[in-house]
Amino acid sequence: MSPRIAVIGGGPAGLVLARVLHRHGHPVTVLERDPARDARPPGGTLDLHEGLGQRALEKAGLLAEFQALSRPEGQAMRILAPDGTVLRDWQPRPDERANPEIDRGQLRDLLLGPLDIQWGRGITKVVPGSRNGVLVRLADGHQETFDLVIGADGAWSRVRPAVSSATPRYTGVTSVETSLEDVDVRHPELARLVGDGSLAVYGVNRAVVAQRCSGGQVKVYAQFRAPLGELAHRDEERGVGSGPAPDRRTTPPQDVARDTGQRPADAEAVRSDLLALYDGWAAPVLDLLRHGTAFIRRPLYALPAHHTWPHVPGVTLIGDAAHLMPPLGVGANLAMLEGAELAESIAGASSPADLDKAVRTFEAHMWPRAGRWSEMTLSGLNRLVSPDPTEALAVFDAVQPS
Ligand SMILES: Cc1cc2nc3c(=O)[nH]c(=O)nc-3n(C[C@H](O)[C@H](O)[C@H](O)COP(=O)(O)OP(=O)(O)OC[C@H]3O[C@@H](n4cnc5c(N)ncnc54)[C@H](O)[C@@H]3O)c2cc1C
Repeated sequence: MSPRIAVIGGGPAGLVLARVLHRHGHPVTVLERDPARDARPPGGTLDLHEGLGQRALEKAGLLAEFQALSRPEGQAMRILAPDGTVLRDWQPRPDERANPEIDRGQLRDLLLGPLDIQWGRGITKVVPGSRNGVLVRLADGHQETFDLVIGADGAWSRVRPAVSSATPRYTGVTSVETSLEDVDVRHPELARLVGDGSLAVYGVNRAVVAQRCSGGQVKVYAQFRAPLGELAHRDEERGVGSGPAPDRRTTPPQDVARDTGQRPADAEAVRSDLLALYDGWAAPVLDLLRHGTAFIRRPLYALPAHHTWPHVPGVTLIGDAAHLMPPLGVGANLAMLEGAELAESIAGASSPADLDKAVRTFEAHMWPRAGRWSEMTLSGLNRLVSPDPTEALAVFDAVQPS
């Protein structure tokens, strides 16, 4: 009989895992807290790297479909100084496929394919070592048991406490996200400024990053060093305004922390705070903030680099649940690759002892790689949002192909 496997969370990690198991003919239960696939906006764009996210899609048999959907031109990158001077303007070669972009929503739909997800089934607790397997408690009051429970439930994982006491810590950088819609028609000068890919502007302890998504949308991220809670007083004083639903990737549950999550904020109050914070920057850069339609505040959290745990039979973690790191283009890629690799290991196991060995081997392989990326992204964030903006250019020059 096949082992009873539960994947908690239908993000990039959980969906790739389920999709690769499905490809190998393995039954799997995916429990997802969101009530439906479109319950919240899927977010911006992701670049999937050749050796990471694209490799995961290959293992899922989805690489060709990804290549048809993705935007290689989205790899373009322009860097400005706060006064608007163009410092770098990198365009990919026509055949460049190292990191093409795809909208999160498109990726989610690609991965969902034939999968049967149990929507609206948030879990509250995982208890290993019960007589019939690992016990999973659900928010709807039910409980179920499985042979293996994989926590792919993101930053504020409810599975993680079953194996580790680690919790994410604030990095010192807050990101406020907004978007411009129908940009080619409504803001053609900003569309030209951002181009086909990304625009980044680095100043002292603050940055503005804008990324083109499909359908004429541009996502804009204002990132700055600030004590936890800065701009939060606005939410509390004026109440929740016109923003979309909170992004669960970065919102801790209420009972985890009170002042740590982003919430949709009063658009006018946040806009005016941001314009004051970036006062003196070139007018087109400020326009990216001025024309934003709604604002989401996201304090950036990370788990300690090299987070590991003593192996617990029947429970493991992948993706952000295992190694939440600053959003520098790696988290989803690693999450997907881990999902694919763990699924292949599970599919190759022929007995319960084999399954446990496969999970142990996977963990030993995952930890050092994720640790290296965590260190790199933590130090990368410190250099990109830094007192010395030339540090940001040095980061770009170190990673960009010439
Ligand atoms: C603004 C921003 C930009 C980013 N850009 C990039 C990028 O360009 N490239 C890149 O590689 N990474 C990027 N990242 C990081 C990336 O988003 C994450 O690393 C990635 O989403 C992690 O995938 P995951 O599946 O582990 O977790 P998540 O994507 O967080 O998915 C977790 C899933 O679990 C569900 N869930 C949560 N709790 C429960 C529960 N109790 N019960 C059941 N289900 C639950 C959630 O609803 C969600 O569907 C970015 C992050 C942010 C915030």
